[in-house]
Amino acid sequence: MARVIIVGAGGVGNVVAHKCAARAEFTDILLASRSVDKCDKIAASIGSPKVTTAALDADVVANTVKLIKEFKPDLLINVALPYQDLTLMDACLETGIHYLDTANYEPIDVAKFEYSWQWAYQDKFKAAGLTAILGCGFDPGVTGVFSAYALKHYFDEIHYLDIIDCNDGNHGKAFATNFNPEINIREITQLGRYFENGEWVEVPALSIHRPIPYPNIGDRESYLLYHEELESLVKNIPTLKRARFWMTFSENYITHLRVLENIGMTRIDPIEYQGQQIVPLQFLKALLPEPASLATNYTGQTSIGCHITGIKDGVANKYYVYNNCQHAEAYAEVGAQGISYTTGVPAVIGALMIVNGNWQKPGVFNVEECDPDPFMELLNSMGLPWHEVIDGESPFEN
Ligand code: NDP
Repeated sequence: MARVIIVGAGGVGNVVAHKCAARAEFTDILLASRSVDKCDKIAASIGSPKVTTAALDADVVANTVKLIKEFKPDLLINVALPYQDLTLMDACLETGIHYLDTANYEPIDVAKFEYSWQWAYQDKFKAAGLTAILGCGFDPGVTGVFSAYALKHYFDEIHYLDIIDCNDGNHGKAFATNFNPEINIREITQLGRYFENGEWVEVPALSIHRPIPYPNIGDRESYLLYHEELESLVKNIPTLKRARFWMTFSENYITHLRVLENIGMTRIDPIEYQGQQIVPLQFLKALLPEPASLATNYTGQTSIGCHITGIKDGVANKYYVYNNCQHAEAYAEVGAQGISYTTGVPAVIGALMIVNGNWQKPGVFNVEECDPDPFMELLNSMGLPWHEVIDGESPFEN
């Protein structure tokens, strides 16, 4: 039995609130975000007396501390933006509650994400006897759990990892991003990066691409991106010889992105406009559809999984594990599109892992450092069933 505070009332916050409300383990849920009207709308759609709401600017530690002291939760689920990770971790430490998020910290004025800032909290969480689980969405999140599950059950050593992420959905808009536009565009426009033979290799953004087959979807053009789970997986699975991340984009999406980049709309440095400082990317975010608003009439499905090769008992082994999620089914269940759903459900499972003790240990952890089995079980029963292919065809050369 636990009380939980959810911070962030966007597309993912909506899913997390719905899924928490459906679980008996959570007796009281406070949904807090910058715009309280968004929290109220979500709470009204859930219609449960367990859910209350509050306005919160989580950039200020004292605000969150005050709210936590009033509500007295056992843990905080951070589904606001990566900019709030450190202030929210500070607030959890000050009030003695557990912490979980779905995206690693990045400073607002530098488009660079890495775990160093949050890993630096290891000693503080350990000393306080509190658990912080980092990156517990789908990717990062389930992809790390999939890797840990493969290592536990199918490999003595993992050598090659290719994480493949396809959104084969259609929201009917000319251009939109499936999660927070600012964070999404910062991620895609940075240099491509992958790990090979003990080194990080950098390539121009979106310069490496190839068709990759996805189950029940077919071949889709997929682009090599740097994605945050690569950093922790390379550290936590030291036998990896190569680790890469691939994501599909339509030609239409890439064309829009190129134009926006070429004309300076993706810049994150402030410019002077009519006597006012504006950040072009933040202005662009204000023009683009909110991720949550894409859910109505979103058709098609996502497919995210891990192709893994390595050895077991001295013999080469191949393994592929994946989930496909239908946008329309996510909408029917919780009024969300598939990207918000595939992020929010694992966040709630991670929270349950803390509450039921499976993942409760003092310190700061990435998901692959925790036992994957109980998490994998809940994926099946909570809306994200997974499938595995043992020793099948791999689209990747080793
Ligand atoms: P949205 O933009 O839809 O929602 C973000 C929410 O955070 C909004 O409600 C926003 O409030 C709120 N917020 C922003 N700043 C503050 C603040 N200072 N204090 C309090 N609340 C604040 O994004 P998504 O729901 O799509 O994404 C949420 C998170 O999930 C992001 O961190 C994203 O990177 C992560 N994510 C992770 C994935 C994974 O697989 N691991 C995949 C997809 C997303 P307001 O509405 O007022 O702006």
